[in-house]
Amino acid sequence: MNDGLLFIISAPSGAGKTSLIKALITRDASLSLSISCTTRTQREGEIDGVHYHFLDHTGFAQAVTAGAFLEHAEVFGNHYGTREADVRACLAAGRELILEIDWQGAQQVRARFPAAISIFVAPPSIAELERRLNGRGTDNADVIARRMAQAHSDLTHYTEYDYVVINDDFDAALNALAAIISAERLRLARQQSSLTELFSHLN
Ligand code: 5GP
Repeated sequence: MNDGLLFIISAPSGAGKTSLIKALITRDASLSLSISCTTRTQREGEIDGVHYHFLDHTGFAQAVTAGAFLEHAEVFGNHYGTREADVRACLAAGRELILEIDWQGAQQVRARFPAAISIFVAPPSIAELERRLNGRGTDNADVIARRMAQAHSDLTHYTEYDYVVINDDFDAALNALAAIISAERLRLARQQSSLTELFSHLN
């Protein structure tokens, strides 16, 4: 059996990445989303072990020292990390996994898993990104200004990715993500084992 596909999806905050990934997983049952560890405070409605594994700073530092993370990074003053054992178990079972991580994590994963497929989701304009961040109604002006500064820095990393999807129209962006995933599944190397028998009859 082939190892499962590993997708990395990154985007600046407000580009719509989380909603797109949620919709993608809802419509394609073979995809699953990796659950990261974080030191950030649990938000209302978030469930430990479902949205994140919430760790305190000591627990996170211990996991770093133990080498438990495939990648880890500091984002907005909080620490985030992807547990290596979870990723390896998922891929070894032939399942497809999405890592929703920032560009720092993406760089680390590419170094360890060169076959990972990385996708950058970008907003159609800076004005639209700011409008979306304001529209959330969850952050004050200071936080929005910080998110905008962070977004400018995140956006400089788009050239490191295999694919870029502009989220102007939600459905179009969702279809683009689904198309990338379909195309990656159809690569000859992914199908080699199942094709051998078919082509022995066809030829
Ligand atoms: P939030 O705290 O809003 O859920 O996520 C903030 C940022 O952290 C997002 O850009 C998200 O992609 C990033 N992030 C979430 N989990 C991980 C992770 O495991 N590793 C890295 N490097 N970034 C993560």
